[in-house]
Amino acid sequence: MPELPEVETVRRGLEQKLNNFIIKKVEVCRDSTIAFPTNKEEFIKGLLNSLIYKWDRRGKYLIAQLKEVQNENAQFLLENSKNNGFLVVHLRMTGYFKFIENSSHPCKHTRIRFFDKNNDELRYIDVRSFGQMWWINKDLSLNKIIKGIGSLGPEPFSKDFDANYLKKVISKRTKSIKAILLDQTIVAGIGNIYADESLYSAGISPFREARTIKKNELIKLKESIVTVLKKSIGSGGTTFSDFRDLEGENGNFGLQTNVYRRTGKECRKCGNLIERQKITGRSTHWCPRCQK
Ligand SMILES: [Zn+2]
Repeated sequence: MPELPEVETVRRGLEQKLNNFIIKKVEVCRDSTIAFPTNKEEFIKGLLNSLIYKWDRRGKYLIAQLKEVQNENAQFLLENSKNNGFLVVHLRMTGYFKFIENSSHPCKHTRIRFFDKNNDELRYIDVRSFGQMWWINKDLSLNKIIKGIGSLGPEPFSKDFDANYLKKVISKRTKSIKAILLDQTIVAGIGNIYADESLYSAGISPFREARTIKKNELIKLKESIVTVLKKSIGSGGTTFSDFRDLEGENGNFGLQTNVYRRTGKECRKCGNLIERQKITGRSTHWCPRCQK
């Protein structure tokens, strides 16, 4: 599943590609991709004549700020144009966007198509179809409608996320530190790959009971998380067979992992073999010698 670095890579691609993209037509190829409003006509109508003004990211959610465009021939002033709510996207397992100049015939996994007046297309493709989209009217509360966003913990890069915060939230938790890192209500955007890689880099065993981890280790862990995520964003996301950027390219050239999917290979630090075991149903990779 795409994690924070992959979603951030997509966000940057969308910002770059979509210049003054005003939605003139929406084609819904699969109704169930729309999570809200429940009526697909309402989703389509709500988005028409919206300028995609800005793309934000929260955890693994992409959030487009929309502006209402009444007369696009007039030199419209963005500051004055009214908000038209948000288009929110969660890519889940296999969702991705493709920007297509002069729209062509869509593949069978195409779920939603957005067109501008030049017939340029922003296409959403999703093989396994777990991805979702929401149009949130400006009068509604995004955090209330999308509970997954409302309950998100701090962003790893924000100043709210530090060793003190971690100490506070895990001080009584008997769950493993790996499970804690995967919990989106504690920290937003970290999934299986980056949890494993960050714990390796911090020298902490994924099996440790969260409450036993000391302050100095938490300082190291926070730093490791930030470093690992930033490095991966810089290289366009890590090794995902399903991940695609806006050009339809796989980000596979990216980051070299230290433990993730390296079971039975030599640890890059000590030469011991990397092991794998499940924690709360997720494959966990670690070096038993380097991680205590
Ligand atoms: Zn090692």
